[in-house]
Amino acid sequence: MPGFEFFGAEERKEVNDVLETGILMRYGFDGPRKGIWKAQELEKAITTTFGCKYAQLTSSGTAALTTAMLALGVGYGDEVIMPAFTFVASFEAVLSVGAIPVLVDIDETLTLNPHAVRKAINAKTKCVMPVHMCGSMADLDALSAICAEHNLILLEDACQSIGGTYKGKLLGTIGHAGTFSFDFVKMITCAEGGVVMTNNKDVYEKSDGYTDHGHDHLGVDRGADLHPFIGYNFRISELHAAVGLAQIRKLDSFLALQKKNNKALRTYLEQIPEISFRVIPEGGEDSCSFLSWFLPTTELTQSVVAEMKEQGILAGNFYWFANNWHYISKWDHLKNSTTLGRISPEQEAALLHLKSTSFAASDAIMGRCISTAISLIWTDEQIKEKGEKMVAAIRKVLNER
Ligand SMILES: *Cc1c(COP(=O)(O)O)cnc(C)c1O
Repeated sequence: MPGFEFFGAEERKEVNDVLETGILMRYGFDGPRKGIWKAQELEKAITTTFGCKYAQLTSSGTAALTTAMLALGVGYGDEVIMPAFTFVASFEAVLSVGAIPVLVDIDETLTLNPHAVRKAINAKTKCVMPVHMCGSMADLDALSAICAEHNLILLEDACQSIGGTYKGKLLGTIGHAGTFSFDFVKMITCAEGGVVMTNNKDVYEKSDGYTDHGHDHLGVDRGADLHPFIGYNFRISELHAAVGLAQIRKLDSFLALQKKNNKALRTYLEQIPEISFRVIPEGGEDSCSFLSWFLPTTELTQSVVAEMKEQGILAGNFYWFANNWHYISKWDHLKNSTTLGRISPEQEAALLHLKSTSFAASDAIMGRCISTAISLIWTDEQIKEKGEKMVAAIRKVLNER
């Protein structure tokens, strides 16, 4: 996944362009900036690379999710259906707009189970937010059909799946809006940054205004801009956008390496008949940022994690089930509604309700899942060594059964 593995002369050149003019802000200063508009250039590159009409950069992926929800009209009291396996940012964004996160089970795609989504729909449901975790995707045809049937918004959190495709379209461009994160560990990075992508002009214009205090950006004088609605500051800086511009030009080569390394490592794990792999929905192509695999039981998986730790080969392997940041089982702050300020009674009640909600179906999947992060800089020799050591550790545990 990490583009930071290839930070180099290209990124430095783009940043230096900005440092030479000293105009670090993306708006205004038309004269002194000498034609350097990195954020605009990156937005354009995003629309052409990913095939969407509009792209609005933000200061983070979390800010992109917040912005997208507001631009789509999600707010106070609205319910947003989202998966129990994601990064905390997904529910943080829902809460930030006053909406209610409704967490539901995942399936072996490691993303939203469409049946669980259907069951969670009620009169307050406004939006379905699949999170395309670890490089691959939710069943977007099934979710699109559900959204069409119930007149719901489909917002893709594609922060972790830059470059993955579904039926020929890039993830993040299929719903009413989609977001990427360009934080430091994502497929391509700006250090910090994110983007809202959409084909809807209204959603774009609202995103554009919201991220810059509501500016309508129609004139040449910022002070004379109108403010058609109340906004916020989620602007990206020119320095960050400059890094992203160099990175997006390398995306194809990153993806090619990632797919090659993922496939090579997979051939080792495939030697073990007890191992199965994450399900990719029909028509989907994984970005391959992780290789996610299952063992037959949670107990065996925990033993394999312990064995890999013991052998010093656990680094880069994620057992999300026991991870504080990615799965409901460890989100006590969420389930106890531990917030700094008061939130709405509806939000609080929904969060406390999570304590007594069963996620047994997700537990049964996450308890058996290990995701191996794919590095872009592995050599063939390193992949061989890694694959052989992993296979040996797994076999040892399986043989001791
Ligand atoms: C990284 C990430 C985000 C948030 O992105 P930031 O840029 O770190 O704010 C949101 N959702 C998912 C699934 C992520 O992995």
